[in-house]
Amino acid sequence: MRKQVTITKTDHRVFIEENAPRDGLQNEAAVFSLEEKVSLVDSLTQCGFPRIQVGAFVDPRKVPQMADTEKLLERIARGGQTIYSALVLNERGMERAAASGIGHVSFFVSASDAHSRRNTNLSAEDALHQARKAVSKAVSRGISVQGGIMNAFTCPFEGVIPLERVLYLVCTLTEMGVEEINLADTAGLAHPLQVTRVVQRVLQVTEIPVSLHLHDSLGFGLVNAYAAWNEGIRRFDASCGGLGGCPFLPQSAGNIASEDMVNLFESMGVSTGISLPRLVEVARMLRTKLNRPLWSRYLTLCGSPP
Ligand SMILES: [Zn+2]
Repeated sequence: MRKQVTITKTDHRVFIEENAPRDGLQNEAAVFSLEEKVSLVDSLTQCGFPRIQVGAFVDPRKVPQMADTEKLLERIARGGQTIYSALVLNERGMERAAASGIGHVSFFVSASDAHSRRNTNLSAEDALHQARKAVSKAVSRGISVQGGIMNAFTCPFEGVIPLERVLYLVCTLTEMGVEEINLADTAGLAHPLQVTRVVQRVLQVTEIPVSLHLHDSLGFGLVNAYAAWNEGIRRFDASCGGLGGCPFLPQSAGNIASEDMVNLFESMGVSTGISLPRLVEVARMLRTKLNRPLWSRYLTLCGSPP
């Protein structure tokens, strides 16, 4: 029998985390100055995002674009209800996060051993071992942790990730005390039926909120988001201007453009709390700074100067 999609009261809102300052800028050769990053984060705050991932506590020799995350957190104008978060991949990063006074972090492990070794110099099991220690340290200091799984669907090096592996990581991260699980299609290789199957099973093994981080390499980003929304997912990551990618995955393209995601949900009558006109202004500013077309349908169609 065909499943009926019924809209309930809680379906009328989705939570979108903005990722351009981290996932976006880490992939750009044009290095943004600290002042430009502060201005970008402040502009995104003005758009109404409930959470913004502003940077990463990772090795500055490997990802120099993220080296000034501490300074950025000191300088941004904290506004309204916005939560500011940063990416962490190991214990050292968690030490830096705790010292910065940040209240929320995303700790990511990879479901793919080959990607884990490239991204963190750690096997997937060693990375999980570090996660255990780092998450417990963060939780004991009152920092909220999102537990993320990179390559939760398909890895360019290992192919389709076995579902059992993903469920094992979801359960392990949940037991560690993370407040939210993030499933990342880091290389943008997942298709909608795969997203549906994985999300259905993940929602059966954890009771904490689950969010999705979907890259748009094959143009499936929004379709995958819609498939996940149909299964009850209400939290998504997106990136202004569709910026993003993984420095250690050559095939990865940008995230779903935030303006496209906001437009999708608002068109369906699902509130995002985000101002689309303000967001388009920020995307236009990024396009000017980067001096190239961006991976954003809404910006391309509606973001040209009059
Ligand atoms: Zn990403």
